Amino acid sequence: MTLKEKALFAVDALEGLYPEAICSLDHEGDPYKLLVMAVLSAQCTDARVNAVSVPLFEKYPTPDLMAASPEGELEGLIRSVGLYNSKAKNLRLACRRLTDEYGGKVPSDMKDLLSLGGVGRKVANLIRGDLYGLGGIVADTHCMRISLRLGLSPKKDPLVTEKALSALIPIEKQSDFCHRLVLFGRDICTARSPKCTLCPLKGVCPSAEA
Ligand code: SF4
Repeated sequence: MTLKEKALFAVDALEGLYPEAICSLDHEGDPYKLLVMAVLSAQCTDARVNAVSVPLFEKYPTPDLMAASPEGELEGLIRSVGLYNSKAKNLRLACRRLTDEYGGKVPSDMKDLLSLGGVGRKVANLIRGDLYGLGGIVADTHCMRISLRLGLSPKKDPLVTEKALSALIPIEKQSDFCHRLVLFGRDICTARSPKCTLCPLKGVCPSAEA
């Protein structure tokens, strides 16, 4: 079996296991909301980000309003997500740039996205894949761990994993596959004690435990 065949086998198997591949951030298809929520989600649970986001977007429904938020007010609203001072600073910078350079719209180009405060490749790929249909490998901890175990990526490194999977998985499948990897990584291929006997990939996985 080639690497590509193995990757497609994994795509199909996870599609069967998790027919619904939904983003766990409640962004309602709004790129501005997804960008803000993805920045907030660093070292925080998605459930906490979803809860904080309801009053946050009531207060700042558009990037220009968030960019102009008074010192301390935005910080107060996002305090419970942790690292709130640096996240507030990045969000103001990103929203200022969105307003001044992009007419309040979130760009789809990778370089443009990376020019926004707090936006790295993981967030940029999430936005490009989920909302713009451009594909994107979101190389989070589950994606990196499982790709390494399966032998789809040679290294547990975000850029190496992103590039390896991008070359193996069709663009239109990338985004959903990454959402499914999160569910799979929580349920079966967990960081400690993966449940290999229950795993639909055990026949093709070099790390499968007997
Ligand atoms: S066989 Fe085990 S290590 Fe391999 S993907 Fe499945 S759960 Fe993970």
